Amino acid sequence: MTVIARLLSAPALADVDAAAGCAALLARCACDGRAVIATKASEQARRGDGNLRIGVGRAGVEVESEGVRATVAWRALSWSMRASDALPSHFPYSMSTPTDPIELTAKLMAIDSTSGREGDVVAWLDRYLVERGWRTVRIPVSAGRDDLFVTVVDAPTVTLSTHVDTVPPFIAPRLTDGRIHGRGACDAKGIAASMICAAERLRHDNVPVGLLFVVGEEVTHDGAHAANEAFAARRVPATSRAIINGEPTESTLALGTKGAVRVIVRTAGQAAHSAYPHLGRSATRDLVNLLAELENVDFPNDPVLGETTVNIGSLSGGVADNVMAPWAEARLMIRLVTPVDVVRQKIERWADGRATLEWGPMVPPVKLGVVDGFATSVAAFATDIPVLSNWGTPFLFGPGSIHVAHRDDEMVSIDELRAAVDSYERIARSVESSTRPGRA
Ligand SMILES: [Zn+2]
Repeated sequence: MTVIARLLSAPALADVDAAAGCAALLARCACDGRAVIATKASEQARRGDGNLRIGVGRAGVEVESEGVRATVAWRALSWSMRASDALPSHFPYSMSTPTDPIELTAKLMAIDSTSGREGDVVAWLDRYLVERGWRTVRIPVSAGRDDLFVTVVDAPTVTLSTHVDTVPPFIAPRLTDGRIHGRGACDAKGIAASMICAAERLRHDNVPVGLLFVVGEEVTHDGAHAANEAFAARRVPATSRAIINGEPTESTLALGTKGAVRVIVRTAGQAAHSAYPHLGRSATRDLVNLLAELENVDFPNDPVLGETTVNIGSLSGGVADNVMAPWAEARLMIRLVTPVDVVRQKIERWADGRATLEWGPMVPPVKLGVVDGFATSVAAFATDIPVLSNWGTPFLFGPGSIHVAHRDDEMVSIDELRAAVDSYERIARSVESSTRPGRA
C-alpha cells in the first residue's frame, strides 16, 4: 500500500540516503506536521514543494521523493512520547505512519470518559479514524452518547471490540518505568489502542475486520445493548461471525466468563426493649444466623468455569443499640457458572421462608472460543460479551490485569501493550479464516 502523506507543508524529500535523517523526519512529523527538521534531508525538503510518498509495509516505511527511495525499519521509528507531550490538535492524522499503540493509549487516556461522559472520546476517535481512512457509523445510545462502529469493507466478518468508558475518578496518564499509569490504562483504553493498531495491519492485508467501541460497560451495559440492537436492525453491516472482546486478562485467552446475579435478603423482626428480648424478635440476629448457613449450601461447579462464589457485599439493619432490630438486610452478589435457575433454587431452599428475597439484574455465564497457541484462563468478572450475542462467536483477550483495574494505581506494561497488537492480529486472522464460509 502506498499513500501520499498529507503533510501540512507538503515538503519534498530530495535526499533520503540517510535512514537516520528519514527516521527523524517521520518521527518529527508524527508529533508536529508543520515542523521543519534539522537534518540534511529536511533542509532539502524545505526547499522543495513536491509530495512525499510513504509506503507502509510490514518491515518498515518506504519513503520516496523525486525518484530517491529509502526504507526505515519500524524499530528505527521509535518516537518515544511523554504523556504530557500530547499531540497538537492540528496533527494530520492522515499521516500514513503506523499508529503507535503507546502514543494512542496516552491520547485516549488524556480524555476523561467516565461512564456517562463518553461523548468527547467517541468524537475524538471518530475523527481520528476517519482521517486514517476508516468509515465510521455512530450507534446512538442516549443523549450525547454513541457507540462507534468502524470498518472499510461492506461485509466485515470479525469484530474487535472493547469499551471506552471508565470508572471514576479520572486519573491523567503518566509514563514511567516502562508502564503507562492512569485511568483506563488497562481497562480498557490500552486495549482500544492495541485493537486499532491490529485492525490497521489486518486492513492492510484485506482481512474483513470491524472495530466496535461501546459506552456504558462499567455501569448498565447500555452501549452493548444498543450495539446488539443496531446489528439486529442492520444499522451496521450484520455480517460479523466472531467478536473478539477486550478486557484485561493478563494476555490470556479466556475460556469463559462467569455470570453474576444480585439478591437482597431481608429478615423481619419485632422492636422491643433490648433488656426484655422475649418481648420482641431481632431481625439482625436472624439474618446473621441465616448467613452463617450459606457456608453449607452446595453450590454448583463447572469443569471449565470453576466454582460458584457468593459475596456478602453489605449488611444493614436495626435502629438503635437498645432496641431489638425490627429489620435487617444483606446484599449478596453471586458469580454464576451455571444457568441462574440452579442457584435460585438453592438460595430459595436456604432461605426457606425465613427471609424474603429480592432478585436483581442477572448476567449469564458464557463459554468462549479458543485459538491454538495462547495461554488460557477463566474470567470471574462481568463483560459486555453476554449482551453482544448477535455479533458472533465470542472471544476474550486483553493486556493488563483486572487486579489493578478500577484502582488508583491502574497501569499496564508498555511491552505487554505492544505484544497485544500482535496477539489481536493473530486471533483475528485465525478466527476469520476458520469462520469463512465453506470451513467447518
Ligand atoms: Zn473493562
